[in-house]
Amino acid sequence: MVDRMQKYVSHARQAAAKRRPDERIADHREIRPDLSAEEAARQAARCEQCGTPYCQVYCPLHNNIPDWLKMTAEGRMEDAYQLAQATNNFPEICGRICPQERLCEAKWACTLEQAGHGAVTIGGVERHIGETAWANGWVTPRVPRRLSGQSVGVVGAGPAGMAAAEELRAAGHEVHLYDAHARMGGLMSYGIPEFKMEQHVVARRAGLLLDAGVIFHGGRVLGRDISLDELRGRHDAVVLAYGAHVARRLDAPGAQLPGVISAMDYLVASSRALIGETGAPAFDAADKWVVVIGGGDTAMDCVRTAVRQGAAGVTCLYRRDRGNMPGSLREVEHAEEEGAAFGWQSQPEALMDVPVDVIASQPEGFGCRGAVRMVHAFRTRPVAAGAGGRQVPERVPGSEFEIAADLVINALGFTVADAAALTGGAVTMTAQGRIAADRDSRMTAAEGVFAAGDARLGPSLAVWAIREGREVAAAVSRYLDAATRPPELASDTTAG
Ligand SMILES: Cc1cc2nc3c(=O)[nH]c(=O)nc-3n(C[C@H](O)[C@H](O)[C@H](O)COP(=O)(O)OP(=O)(O)OC[C@H]3O[C@@H](n4cnc5c(N)ncnc54)[C@H](O)[C@@H]3O)c2cc1C
Ligand code: SF4
Repeated sequence: MVDRMQKYVSHARQAAAKRRPDERIADHREIRPDLSAEEAARQAARCEQCGTPYCQVYCPLHNNIPDWLKMTAEGRMEDAYQLAQATNNFPEICGRICPQERLCEAKWACTLEQAGHGAVTIGGVERHIGETAWANGWVTPRVPRRLSGQSVGVVGAGPAGMAAAEELRAAGHEVHLYDAHARMGGLMSYGIPEFKMEQHVVARRAGLLLDAGVIFHGGRVLGRDISLDELRGRHDAVVLAYGAHVARRLDAPGAQLPGVISAMDYLVASSRALIGETGAPAFDAADKWVVVIGGGDTAMDCVRTAVRQGAAGVTCLYRRDRGNMPGSLREVEHAEEEGAAFGWQSQPEALMDVPVDVIASQPEGFGCRGAVRMVHAFRTRPVAAGAGGRQVPERVPGSEFEIAADLVINALGFTVADAAALTGGAVTMTAQGRIAADRDSRMTAAEGVFAAGDARLGPSLAVWAIREGREVAAAVSRYLDAATRPPELASDTTAG
């Protein structure tokens, strides 16, 4: 049925329409609905069906994109879902939150984008495939047919830990998932705001793991409530997938002032309040003048959350220009539509506690009712492309300026918590500050202890974490199989 495909000349690229900015900032719900069945089929039919599908190459999960697009165009939705879920544990999640313009829909990945026709809306179709499967009852728990009699403890219930748990359970192991938080999801529940992905989307997947027999232990912190030695005593293997949550320091005088908080603290407080774990959020931007420092997706999430909380004004300061931001331009556009201001090429160098009457003398535009803080910053200009081709900013002499703020959010990124400190020295870190684990076996310095996700890669993306979870599960199963194999077979395998 090739005649159903290659419709890119007659069908323009069309993503699901975004809600109007004034409407979407009035709540925290997703800004786009799912594509309708007709829209998804029409968009999927645009695919060129390339001989070498670079979209598949650039998808971290190597999803079989051209085939599930064709199935969608042909209305074979259950087949499309079966194919999508064969490589991706959470297709409807990736369809929502992957930065597709840097992955499968980039100009180096989709021939149509390169040719100027506009990429196939791969993410939108993947979301639709997942949602259709949920609506029709095709998403079922992967209950093992046979039990191995072996037990695995997974620390961290983010996308890496959840994908690992699902794969390990399907392979027949008893799986215990431990997390500091009360719910599964990791940053998908407590970091990524609802306007990018509503909570029920993650909660459904968490429920599926429980239905498959995964045992969840919420509110358990490794290194505080439970030690690695205890976990090793309970389980035949342990996976560390505890993410990268330690805020990079804002290296400026005044960074410790009250009212200067980390992006993670801010976003977690907002998420916990929205899912009903707390009352009002511990940090609320309502009626405040907010300055967000940073230029990544986390900064955009803070900016957009503050707008929704009813901030009096939100300004994002970033030291490079718009074209050189580390985050997704799609997210910047959303933030701009929602009324956030951007101070490009602006670098803060000090935060000051200042009396309210000083604030009152601020130039218009930086006015700040009741503010108690002042961000002192300077403008930058690019001097050269650094390693990786990105601008290196330098100070523009005499360009200093000040912005008043009630709340300053440090969104300069995250690092991985020291595994040695959490595990009594059993697990070590790389020089780059990630958990050290063998590239192939994924095992750390401690026998039977593995690492996956942001904790092994450094801060990354949910789709990479899912891949990590799948790969570590396969590595753990190989390790456990080898442990139960008779010695003569084990040595045969090694020799071969
Ligand atoms: C604000 C924000 C927005 C993001 N937006 C996107 C996006 O739009 N798209 C995208 O693809 N990626 C996004 N990311 C990145 C993505 O969320 C992460 O790459 C991904 O969640 C990493 O998965 P993980 O399973 O390795 O770790 P995490 O999701 O971080 O999960 C780790 C889990 O370990 C738990 N934990 C930590 N320490 C301990 C301990 N000592 N004991 C027990 N449990 C512990 C944590 O509570 C957490 O639940 C975003 C990240 C942030 C911070
Ligand atoms: S998982 Fe992400 S990168 Fe891969 S096809 Fe889906 S949206 Fe694209």
